[in-house]
Amino acid sequence: MKVDVFTLKRQYEAIKGEIKGPIEKVMQSGGFILGEDVKLFEQEFAEYCGVKYGVGVNSGTDALFLACLACGIGKGDEVIVMPYTYIATTLAISMTGARPVFVDIDEKTYNIDISKIEKAITAKTKAILPVHLYGHPVDMDPLMEIAKKRGLKVIEDCAQAHGALYKNKKVGSFGDASCFSFYPTKNLGAFGDGGMVMTSSEKIKEKLVFLRDYGRKGRYEHIMKGYNSRLDTLQAAILRIKLRHLDEWDEKRRLNAALYTKLFKEKQLDIITPYEAEYARHVYHLYAVRVKNRGKVMEKLQDNGVRTLVHYPIPIHLQEAYKDLGHKKGDFPVSERCCGEILSLPMYPELSEEEIGYVVETLAGIL
Ligand SMILES: *Cc1c(COP(=O)(O)O)cnc(C)c1O
Repeated sequence: MKVDVFTLKRQYEAIKGEIKGPIEKVMQSGGFILGEDVKLFEQEFAEYCGVKYGVGVNSGTDALFLACLACGIGKGDEVIVMPYTYIATTLAISMTGARPVFVDIDEKTYNIDISKIEKAITAKTKAILPVHLYGHPVDMDPLMEIAKKRGLKVIEDCAQAHGALYKNKKVGSFGDASCFSFYPTKNLGAFGDGGMVMTSSEKIKEKLVFLRDYGRKGRYEHIMKGYNSRLDTLQAAILRIKLRHLDEWDEKRRLNAALYTKLFKEKQLDIITPYEAEYARHVYHLYAVRVKNRGKVMEKLQDNGVRTLVHYPIPIHLQEAYKDLGHKKGDFPVSERCCGEILSLPMYPELSEEEIGYVVETLAGIL
């Protein structure tokens, strides 16, 4: 048997009948830039997340970058973030001229260790940027309390957590702004790049609307130096259809995760399975386990037709791109340890029980 770490083919087969009409409609209308479907998808996704506004942009990275700018972050500022995330999170901070300041992770949830945030705050700190990594929500109550007490902005990175709940509220509804990616493999993915910033602040929304569209007010009147970063109408039309399936897809991911975890428990394998806090509805963008001798395990899985990936092998403080920050090995030991052991098993809504069973059996034969 062959099991890929993810595939988009099955989802496309399931929905292709539904998306043909809307795609054709956009083609016929010619309104490819900031067309009707963008406005409608912004409204629908904002309602889904429980916020007032959504502003469609061209990627998750730009959503983070423009959200930081809209929150007034720039040169000389510091933003608190974990080094255990995809590098886009910190690149967006760096693009504003601000400096990412790292705080290590909690070993159970792989999210920022909230008990270590206060020590990292300085006079230059402007914001905290929590990442709901792998689809597990950050413990937002204590984080928001610190932000409120210290007068800091909060920008959520929800790129892996569409539909995840914290205490029965959607992620993306807690921060001053929150950022989603619609990269094709995300829980809600377009047929290309896309992103959105969510906010309930009218002021932040207004600023984002200028920032994503050349700072344009009239057709050729510009009130600030903006960017060209818009969600395509075609992508918005596709995403509107896919949004109707998101809860069902997330539920399937949860069932797949529960089956993996149950089978691993039964077999009593030497493997750390994902944790779900009691406040959380995890949406398993990834099903990430931890194993010893990861390199060998991956190789043997591959030999048996099971493709896996590592999210992520190098923590950001040890990436060459960030050597200017002057970090060294040992600075964030939990992140470093997890980067060395973490392994993403195949995970997508359409994964079958047989495939999950095969992955578990194969792993059992290796460990
Ligand atoms: C995917 C991702 C991003 C970036 O989104 P793009 O749409 O690829 O630019 C940012 N943060 C995290 C945690 C991600 O997983």
